[in-house]
Amino acid sequence: MAVENWVAKEIESLTAFRRDLHQNPELLYDVTRTASSVATALRAAGVDEVIEGIGRSGVVGVIHGQTDTKGRMIGLRADMDALPIDETSGKPWASLVPGKMHACGHDGHSTMLLGAARQLAETRAFDGTVIVIFQPAEEGGAGAKAMIDDGLFERWPCNEVYGMHNRPNLPVGEFTIAPGPIMAAVDEVRITVTGRGGHAARPNDTIDPLPVAAALIQAIQTVVSRTVDPLDSAVVSLCTIHAGNAFNVVPQAIELTGTVRTLREEVRDHVEAQLSRLVEHIAAGFGGVGNLDYVRHYPVTVNHARETELAAAAAQEVAGMDKVCVDMPPIMGGEDFSFMLNEVPGAMINVGNGSSAGLHHPEYDFNDDVIPWGCSYWTTLVRQRLPLA
Ligand SMILES: [Zn+2]
Ligand SMILES: [Zn+2]
Repeated sequence: MAVENWVAKEIESLTAFRRDLHQNPELLYDVTRTASSVATALRAAGVDEVIEGIGRSGVVGVIHGQTDTKGRMIGLRADMDALPIDETSGKPWASLVPGKMHACGHDGHSTMLLGAARQLAETRAFDGTVIVIFQPAEEGGAGAKAMIDDGLFERWPCNEVYGMHNRPNLPVGEFTIAPGPIMAAVDEVRITVTGRGGHAARPNDTIDPLPVAAALIQAIQTVVSRTVDPLDSAVVSLCTIHAGNAFNVVPQAIELTGTVRTLREEVRDHVEAQLSRLVEHIAAGFGGVGNLDYVRHYPVTVNHARETELAAAAAQEVAGMDKVCVDMPPIMGGEDFSFMLNEVPGAMINVGNGSSAGLHHPEYDFNDDVIPWGCSYWTTLVRQRLPLA
C-alpha cells in the first residue's frame, strides 16, 4: 500500500478530529462549529489563506506549491453537513445531539481533506495552487451551488475539481469510479388535485379528489414502464399522500409528493412533461383540477472522461491496479458536487468504507481506517496533476 509515512504520524490526531465532528453533527448551512473547527485546523496546518463564509458557511483553504511555473490550480472538495437522524451506532463517539448524526460520512470526508491539506502545506511538493473546498448543505441544501453563486470559481479559477465519497461495503483500500453519469438528477414532485368537497352521503354533489388520486397513482406507474426508453434509467416514486380529516366528509383537495431520478437531461425533461400531462388530463377527466409543481434540485452528476482517468490513475498508484474499479455502475441517488462538475472539469471517486451499515442509516459510521486511503488519494492526485518540474 502506497499510503505515505506522514499519515502514520497524523492518524491519531485525524481520528480524534473525525470523532469530534461526529459527536457534534450540524445540519445544512448551520455548520458553524464544524466550519470553524475546519478553518482553525487549516490555519494550524499552515495553509496560506483560509476564507470562511463562502456560500454562507463554506470554507476555502489556499495552498501554494513550491513553484508555480504554469499558473495551474486544482480544487479538492469535501462536505461538512450531517443528517436529521437519531444515531443508534452505540459507538463511544456517537452523536451528542439528539436528532442529528453524521450518517453519510461527511465528517470523514472533511477529515481526509484536512489530512491532505496538512501534508500539502508541510511539503509543498507541487507546482501550482491547490484549493481545498469544504462545503455546507450537501444533504438537500445545494451548498455547492451556494458556494459557486458566491464566486467560488471566479475567485479561484480551478482548472480541475475533484470530489470523493465513502462507499459502505466496498472493502477498505478499494476505489470505484466511472466516466459519464454516475449519480442521478434529484427532483421533487408536488401534485395537488382540487375537486369539490361536501357530505360523504351525497357524493354526487362533490368532485371527490380521492379516486382521482387513485387513478393518477396507477397512471404514474406507466411513466417509466411505458414511456421511457428501456435502455434509459428513471425512477418515479410517490412517497406521501394527504387529504381529509373526517370519516364523513369528502375533502376539497388531495396532495401527493414524491421524487424523480434520472441520468440524462432529456429523460428528465420527458418525465416532467409526461407527469404534467397525466396530472392535468386525468384530473380534468374527473371534473377536477390537477396541478404539478416540479422542482429541480440537483443535476445529474457527470464525471468528465479525461479527469476520471486522471483520478483513477491516482487511486491506482495508491491502492494498486486491481483495487480500482473504473466502470462502476451509476446509482440513482443524487450528489450536489454535480453543480461543481457542471462548471469545471473533474471527477468524483468512491472510497471503500468496509463492511458497514448503509449511508443515511442510523447505525452507520464512517470507518477511521479509510482516513489514510483518502488522504493518500488526495496527495497523490495533487502530485500527479501538479508535478514539480
Ligand atoms: Zn448523504
Ligand atoms: Zn454524502
